[in-house]
Amino acid sequence: MIIQDVINHLHSLAPLAYAEDFDNVGLLVGNKNQSVSGILVTLDTLEAVVDEAIDNNCNLIVSFHPIIFKGLKKLTGKTYVERVVIKAIQNNIAIFSIHTALDNAIEGVNSIICDQLGLKNKSILIPQSGTIKKLQTYVPKTNAEELRQALFNAGAGMLGNYESCSFNVDGEGTYLGNEDSNPTIGQKGELHIENETAISVTFKKHLESKVLKTLFESHPYEEVAYEVSTIENTNQHIGMGMIGEFENEMNPKDCLLHIKNKMNTESIRHSSLLDKPIKKVAVLGGSGSFAINAAKSAGADILVTADLKYHDFFSAENTIILADIGHYESEQFTKSFLVDYLSKKITNFAIILSKTNTNPVKYL
Ligand SMILES: [Zn+2]
Repeated sequence: MIIQDVINHLHSLAPLAYAEDFDNVGLLVGNKNQSVSGILVTLDTLEAVVDEAIDNNCNLIVSFHPIIFKGLKKLTGKTYVERVVIKAIQNNIAIFSIHTALDNAIEGVNSIICDQLGLKNKSILIPQSGTIKKLQTYVPKTNAEELRQALFNAGAGMLGNYESCSFNVDGEGTYLGNEDSNPTIGQKGELHIENETAISVTFKKHLESKVLKTLFESHPYEEVAYEVSTIENTNQHIGMGMIGEFENEMNPKDCLLHIKNKMNTESIRHSSLLDKPIKKVAVLGGSGSFAINAAKSAGADILVTADLKYHDFFSAENTIILADIGHYESEQFTKSFLVDYLSKKITNFAIILSKTNTNPVKYL
């Protein structure tokens, strides 16, 4: 097994195409063609984690957060980031980061928090837009069925719980090839009219190269007429944060104690408790102040997130409870989730959960 094989498994869980623009995901250090001796999963790649990888004979670290976030101009060992990268390279250890690709995945960071809190009816809090693409192509009617099927097999035509979705219109296509042409149907230099079908399918943007490769391989024409466009519709299966419901509503104090217990956090900073029971819970692992308005609009009684600033708490405005449970605490279950996921996909060697607590924040 090579590193790329592991990346492919992670990619099917959380395609990197859905990571946020500001992020730095993917293989940050190492060669994707190197064979894997062992995998260590961590939330942050610190020097102690690289040491742990060395001790466990792991040459791939799968890290939630990216150790290299901004550009690195020097590698002199002056900062912890530089020291980690140097140590990893010196010991031939690769580092892969999944970060916001997993934040945006439906089976990702926020789904884990919802499950931890026992929330039902989960849905994405801030669905991403611009992630769905549409292909329209024109094919001889007699080849339409075969091409459609090939596109479906490549992952096009999936709509929520439906597959093989397409729209088809029959019409006449015309073309006239020049002397260098080699038309599959008709003669060069002669205007040809062909009974064609216009096929429209949608697909997720990370499948674009696969869908187009399939189109070119399966379409009979020398020149394939096609259009790809980006649809602005939001994708209900990809995006930041989640919202769910407790089976039975809780009073605010009990709810916070429940969160504190289930999320294994020493302290929760929160806005004023409101005089109404809590049923709907919005969650956003990591820094989540940007989700306050979305949580309010979705009718959440509480937003469970991290890294809220003093002024953020004012925006609760007696309509929602804002709860800051700590950044590390909100994402802590992500690493065991990744270990479980990879262990199911890769059975020939152990996937190791890092024992290093990488939380830089301490409580008195
Ligand atoms: Zn984070």
